[in-house]
Amino acid sequence: MDQLRWGTPEALRHLLCEVVSWRSLTLTEGERDFPAKILTKLEGLPYFQENPNLLALHDVNLGRSFLTALYKHPEAVDTIVLISHFDTVNTEEYGDLEPFAFQPEELTKLLLDRIEELPADAQEDLKSGEYLFGRGTMDMKMGLVMHMSILEKATTEGWPINLILLTVPDEEVNSTGMRAAVTELVELKNLHSLNYKLFLNGEPVFTQEPGDRNYYIYSGSIGKIMPSAVFYGKETHVGEPLSGITAPYIASFLTQRMEWNVSFQEKVRGEKTPVPVTLQQKDLRMEYSAQTPYRSSALYNVFLMERNAAEIMDLFEKVAQDAAAACNSAYSKICTEHSVKTVGEVRVIRYEDLLNHAIKKFGQVFVEAVKVEILANNEWDEREKSFRIADTLLIECQELAPAMVLLFAPPYYPSVNSSNEELVAKCVDYVKELGLRKFGLPFQQIHYFNGISDLSYVNYQDNGEGWSVFKSNTPVWGDCYSIPFDDMQKLRAPVLNIGPFGKDAHKRTERLHIKSAFEEVPILVEDMIKMMFNSNP
Ligand SMILES: [Zn+2]
Repeated sequence: MDQLRWGTPEALRHLLCEVVSWRSLTLTEGERDFPAKILTKLEGLPYFQENPNLLALHDVNLGRSFLTALYKHPEAVDTIVLISHFDTVNTEEYGDLEPFAFQPEELTKLLLDRIEELPADAQEDLKSGEYLFGRGTMDMKMGLVMHMSILEKATTEGWPINLILLTVPDEEVNSTGMRAAVTELVELKNLHSLNYKLFLNGEPVFTQEPGDRNYYIYSGSIGKIMPSAVFYGKETHVGEPLSGITAPYIASFLTQRMEWNVSFQEKVRGEKTPVPVTLQQKDLRMEYSAQTPYRSSALYNVFLMERNAAEIMDLFEKVAQDAAAACNSAYSKICTEHSVKTVGEVRVIRYEDLLNHAIKKFGQVFVEAVKVEILANNEWDEREKSFRIADTLLIECQELAPAMVLLFAPPYYPSVNSSNEELVAKCVDYVKELGLRKFGLPFQQIHYFNGISDLSYVNYQDNGEGWSVFKSNTPVWGDCYSIPFDDMQKLRAPVLNIGPFGKDAHKRTERLHIKSAFEEVPILVEDMIKMMFNSNP
């Protein structure tokens, strides 16, 4: 057998540190440069020297790209897609150690000198010598490195199965990379007559609660959606507060009812979604003035297990109607006490109804022009553009005010779950048994990965109802945000996530368990893949 480059724990550790040192924060130059460096590494493998056409970079946006590397066995059709993301979150929280955030070996040593600054459990882990600290070690360059080593082994040993290594940017912000990759996966499938058996992600184990030491294997991924609102009141001067109604006043009723609202919480297979929380609530006016704020917006985070966008919109609308009723009654009571007339009742409308109203009033051309102008503003992200479109239409349709306009802001991660798939159940049992027997690791199955992942985009099980409600209530849909729903339905293979153990993703104390990452999990994944092709007739 040929000598493997990435075949030992030491080689994996070295490769990880190199790949971590290529800083690739989301939306930075490093993220743009990263995949070409992985490409160069893979070009060094004999298999890709013989088959350079199976290795490719594909455009995403903003100069960013994703990488695919296909190992194609001449007789095999069954294919496993190994998924990872290579972007990382920011590093400000490292403070003066920031220059070392991407040098795991140095950072781990430097932290020893200031160990008292760390939380107790991180201190313990640092002293144990069992962890490597650094941005991207756990989330999730180790997953990518593990997949590279598996790909190398498969190509060297000629495994009778096909593998696609897919690594994408932008997972930490909008998952633009994965949404673009879906279409390429469909193309690769058609071009090489592949049969996708499994989408295998390598996100790390996320603790379920502080201090949790369990190892998890995930047979699904939690969904996330952001029901949002634009509030439109009636402007007045601060000296005459009762001749208007402020948007923050209206918003406060909805926010009170959305935050921690248990009716949004789902309980499935003994797992629970976290309750909703407000991610943003702000004024849509740009600067301070003595005119009262009459336009504002709020963005709420809701996690999903079985519900789709249509169900969330129905629920959100109910909560909003209840909020509007409470607001109207509180407001009219105050007006009665002061013997003034109200400016009207706050109504609740969905974005699609506002849009239809505006089209009827002004025509399609005018509405498109409003959108085009807002979409061209490069200072605004997808969320801000969503609010601005609804806001501008409402300014033109003040006969609807005061109002709460309900909409969805990107991103949307549909939930995905493969626990009932026979192959997944078999893989889970296999890893649990082998993990315990070989390494004494008590693996537990979790049905929904709680860290949000790109697996949301490889398998969509809804019949389209939730989908159409999402599309028609997302102001930027089809312009600066879309989800390749049709292609997602063409993939339809089960999902699974197996990654190394780590702690504190997105924190200064992000760290990777050395033995789990370089010894245990790569072997478990390799053996599981072998089990898949050996048990096939
Ligand atoms: Zn991640």
